[in-house]
Amino acid sequence: MPPERSELHNELVGRALLWAAWCCPALLTVPKASSTVELIAGAAVTAGLAGVAAFLPKFLWKLSCAITLVALPYTLWWCGAAAVGGTGPGYDAAVAATQTHSGEALGALEFVLGLPAFLTVVLAHVSFLFLALRAAAQPAAVAHRSASARSVRIALLASLLPLSVFSLLAVGSAGPAPRRIPLFGAATLVSPLGSVVDIAAMKIRLLSWYHEQGYRRRKARTTTVLTEPQLAIFIIGESVRAGGYGPNQGQRGAASRQLADRVHAGLGAWLPTTCAASDGTHLAVPMLVTATTPENRQQAPSAPTVLGILKAAGFTTAWLANNEAGPDVRERGHDLYAGAFNVNPDNMDDAGLVNWKYDEEMIPLIKEFASKSNGPKGMILHFIGSHIPYQARYPSAFFPPEPSGLPNDQLVDLRYARSLEYGARTILQVADILDLTASPAFLVYASDHGENLPSDHNGLQIHLGPRTSVQDGTVSAFVLWNKAMADTGSPARALSRLVLAKHIAHVDVARLFLVLAGLMAGPVEPTADPTVWGRISIGDDYGVVRCTALRP
Ligand SMILES: [Zn+2]
Repeated sequence: MPPERSELHNELVGRALLWAAWCCPALLTVPKASSTVELIAGAAVTAGLAGVAAFLPKFLWKLSCAITLVALPYTLWWCGAAAVGGTGPGYDAAVAATQTHSGEALGALEFVLGLPAFLTVVLAHVSFLFLALRAAAQPAAVAHRSASARSVRIALLASLLPLSVFSLLAVGSAGPAPRRIPLFGAATLVSPLGSVVDIAAMKIRLLSWYHEQGYRRRKARTTTVLTEPQLAIFIIGESVRAGGYGPNQGQRGAASRQLADRVHAGLGAWLPTTCAASDGTHLAVPMLVTATTPENRQQAPSAPTVLGILKAAGFTTAWLANNEAGPDVRERGHDLYAGAFNVNPDNMDDAGLVNWKYDEEMIPLIKEFASKSNGPKGMILHFIGSHIPYQARYPSAFFPPEPSGLPNDQLVDLRYARSLEYGARTILQVADILDLTASPAFLVYASDHGENLPSDHNGLQIHLGPRTSVQDGTVSAFVLWNKAMADTGSPARALSRLVLAKHIAHVDVARLFLVLAGLMAGPVEPTADPTVWGRISIGDDYGVVRCTALRP
């Protein structure tokens, strides 16, 4: 063979070897196709993507070789996941992989090293790549460059053809949720290059979705990492005004009495009258969950939540939402999201939402989450609580029939009281889960805002009225813990200053949660003169007002 010819031969062989290097990992996935159509699609998409990588113009083809070499750890990870799962990993698996710790990663590596299919495919990929790199390092003769370029262009076009076809088919089958369909349909994930395309496309979609949603929350950073098991629960109540839960409600019903008895027995504490961050759910909850004062309310959508701080400190976290607090409360990165409302900004089409009529329907999930793994666990439970209509918050058969002929004021008072009583029952069910936990476990409860009732005769209805009143500007708050937590002495220390105050603020409750979880030094210092984002008089604009300036 003349030297020029052999050099041309070298380059084409090198490109074919790179193509083979990118095709062979798909042996772990394509043969597992459940139908002939799927098998053909998988093979075509794999060959097409590998063709694009291998038959790029001259300078890009050498770059392609170099990138393939640098991407070896990625390819190994992909082959491991494919050997175990039978399909290539997508965006979610990539996110999970970046969050894994070294022990877990080593365990997974040890496992896949025992799989002959994994070893064979990886060996083939590395061998093809090595030979391709050797070919790429050879110079090509000038005389044959044009001939070579023509063959390469044909190969590139031939590779793009199946990709275009499957991309068009994927668009056609996308339906109403096009964001979740991979670029080349289901066959996208059968090769490492397809997974790259899917992960990159998903990241771009998410970034544009965050932009559309105005999502801008920062990820929490913490230097503390906790590993000891504990259970930390933050319950956000709804429309429970100051005194709604407290030491003077023991006569309301069995659950309220049991709650009071529990506190009396040293397994909980009532917190002083708590000034809400504001008088509406969407206004107050973003500040409450981020420990943001009304003075700094514009920071609430970007500050990490208290649950995000736990997550950053090594907790497994869950956010269960049976209530809605708007886009400013969302936070990505938690291990479990569930409920009737979407607080996960990565969930673009509200997938997986369920209908919970009563808050108690989240109890089985809380129980399962609390018992699942070792290590520290944290939860936010966002209750629908005592939201209007009050009689929708409890099964009517749970209470005796409503007395007939009650004046409206008394009827509404009765229904509000029943919603509180039923809510106390649900809270006690969560407390039972604390008691079933062997490690320290606690829950912090604070309502989002209070409520005006007709019997107040203040001219205001429910909450978020033309002015903020004492009734909707202040709320109930308390803490419950289990025996193991009491034995640590931590609740008594954390609360020593807080319980002496006349008024505390929503931020104090959020800080208490962090102190009890071991992520902030205690005791919690009560806010000296709590403020509310509200309006003192009708006609005022919303502003930072002193809580003690609110009128009934
Ligand atoms: Zn609310």
